[in-house]
Amino acid sequence: MAKSIMHNKEDRTCYLCMLLRDDFATRRDLQEHHAMPGTANRKLSERYGLKVHLCMEHHTAGPQAVHNNIRLQRLLQANAQISFERKYSHDEWMKIFGRNFI
Ligand SMILES: [Zn+2]
Ligand SMILES: [Zn+2]
Repeated sequence: MAKSIMHNKEDRTCYLCMLLRDDFATRRDLQEHHAMPGTANRKLSERYGLKVHLCMEHHTAGPQAVHNNIRLQRLLQANAQISFERKYSHDEWMKIFGRNFI
């Protein structure tokens, strides 16, 4: 498994708690989330480390969960693209994912 280029797993923080609430608390209920949805993109997310760790509330449970909230899904996709392009390039991103989220 590739290491995330978006979020350091060892921090034990929730990516969206940090981003949305400035909450840097360590958590026990973290789950791995691949930033790019869909079967093919999930594999690509894994290969390029486009994944974050999320608490239950921000992953699957309730209205502030990325799987239930298109706005949050887009936010993670945009951040995945930014992280990817910092390491590779915009051309590579478009070649691989075919869509601009920024
Ligand atoms: Zn959270
Ligand atoms: Zn997920």
